Amino acid sequence: MKHFDAIIIGTGQAGPPLAARFSGAGKTVAIIERHKFGGTCVNTGCIPTKTMVASAYAAHVARRGAEYGFSVNSDVRVDMKRVKARKDAVSGRSNKGVEESLRGLKNCTVIRGHARFESSSTVVVNDEVLQADKIYVNAGGRASIPEMLGIHDVAFLTNSSIMEVDFLPEHLVVVGGSYVGLEFAQMYRRFGSEVTVVEMGPRLIGREDEDVSQAVREILEAEGIHIRLDAKCISLAKRDHGVAVHVTCEEGPPDVVGSHVLLAVGRIPNTSDLALDKAGVKTDQRGYIVVDDQLQTNVPGIWALGDCNGRGAFTHTSYNDYEIVADNLFKADHRRVSDRIQAYALYIDPPLGRCGMTDAEIRKSGRRAMLAKFPMVRVGRAYEKGETQGFIKICVDAETQQILGAAILGVGGDEVIHVLLDVMYAKAPYTVIQRAMHIHPTVAEYLPTVLSKLEPFA
Ligand SMILES: Cc1cc2nc3c(=O)[nH]c(=O)nc-3n(C[C@H](O)[C@H](O)[C@H](O)COP(=O)(O)OP(=O)(O)OC[C@H]3O[C@@H](n4cnc5c(N)ncnc54)[C@H](O)[C@@H]3O)c2cc1C
Repeated sequence: MKHFDAIIIGTGQAGPPLAARFSGAGKTVAIIERHKFGGTCVNTGCIPTKTMVASAYAAHVARRGAEYGFSVNSDVRVDMKRVKARKDAVSGRSNKGVEESLRGLKNCTVIRGHARFESSSTVVVNDEVLQADKIYVNAGGRASIPEMLGIHDVAFLTNSSIMEVDFLPEHLVVVGGSYVGLEFAQMYRRFGSEVTVVEMGPRLIGREDEDVSQAVREILEAEGIHIRLDAKCISLAKRDHGVAVHVTCEEGPPDVVGSHVLLAVGRIPNTSDLALDKAGVKTDQRGYIVVDDQLQTNVPGIWALGDCNGRGAFTHTSYNDYEIVADNLFKADHRRVSDRIQAYALYIDPPLGRCGMTDAEIRKSGRRAMLAKFPMVRVGRAYEKGETQGFIKICVDAETQQILGAAILGVGGDEVIHVLLDVMYAKAPYTVIQRAMHIHPTVAEYLPTVLSKLEPFA
């Protein structure tokens, strides 16, 4: 049996920096990876998708050349082999970087293989038993494949397998109208595919406010993406040249026939093959590892970080999990998950930057609140760029004057949202932003103007 100060299972967004922290503190650590170094974000998530979104954006702008005063000699045609090669290069660089940096750490043993618990302080990998008093699970998640009718009869794509696609699907049917599905829908439309989004719910990105869902729908439909909502009982069937997705929506034909289908209907944690029962670690009904506010499981000495604990589903939440665990351990800090403010982006173009509560959540909380909404078409910077879709929306607590939540759907929305987020972390009143002098011409310079339009919640 080999002994370490710490064992880390998985090299997602939390495991590698945690290994570096142990190494830096002069401790021994073993880190185990069964597949690709860097996990989802690096190989099949954020990095490759945002790289492809950039290719799609470039093609889109080229097609709009006449509006900006230039012409392209022929039709803009996307070469998917080159798009994939660019994506592979960017993503591959990160994947290599994670592996190399781990292998370069002092006192760090990098092991390739599938880890399983043998007890609350031992893990088996490649028939070898490793022991540590501290074990950190950063096992991540994968695409959910629901047991829908016909699922075993057809070929379908997921966020992982679509990474290997180096051709243009004639008609991509995206099942799932949420964050992952919509990014792929818009990029493939811009690459040149016909695209249909099939969503079970009554609107896209159902966790967002209705005005956000509606504006996103309009943006996508304006680019020729077909959207089928209320698809109550989706099933799949093989066709000669593709797949039929049965949608049974109230409106429109009952089937959408596409050349390819992408399933983007949620994520599930990689916890069923960790033998967690041998360590006595509890999971919830959906398989997420149950953790407390400092990410410790019910078993002392075992922590769970990242997507597998159900406390976040983003790279930044996983990395923040690492910071919480490491600072509490090495700095005797008292950082907690409940200290963080919800924040994320949807990377369609224009992007949606979100922080804090939605209007619906604020209403439910019963607070007295004020709201301001401002169209992007009145933002000078957006107008100059010719990218005027979307709006800025900010909600403020009427009593404390602190910002409760915001949505910026528009050019630069993923960046500008941080102005509001940081003021929220500072627990400062919104008037701090109103009095700040911002740079012209930017989207952020309009935040004081937007805040001057606050009105009581309807
Ligand atoms: C298409 C897509 C786009 C996304 N875009 C964004 C975005 O723009 N911004 C954002 O913040 N988030 C995005 N996300 C989410 C983000 O990728 C994840 O939240 C992030 O990767 C955090 O993952 P993690 O640290 O929990 O683990 P992961 O990155 O999932 O890594 C877990 C690792 O553990 C390994 N592993 C699992 N079980 C074992 C075992 N038993 N033994 C050994 N190794 C094991 C896996 O092989 C994997 O490498 C996106 C996700 C998808 C699917």
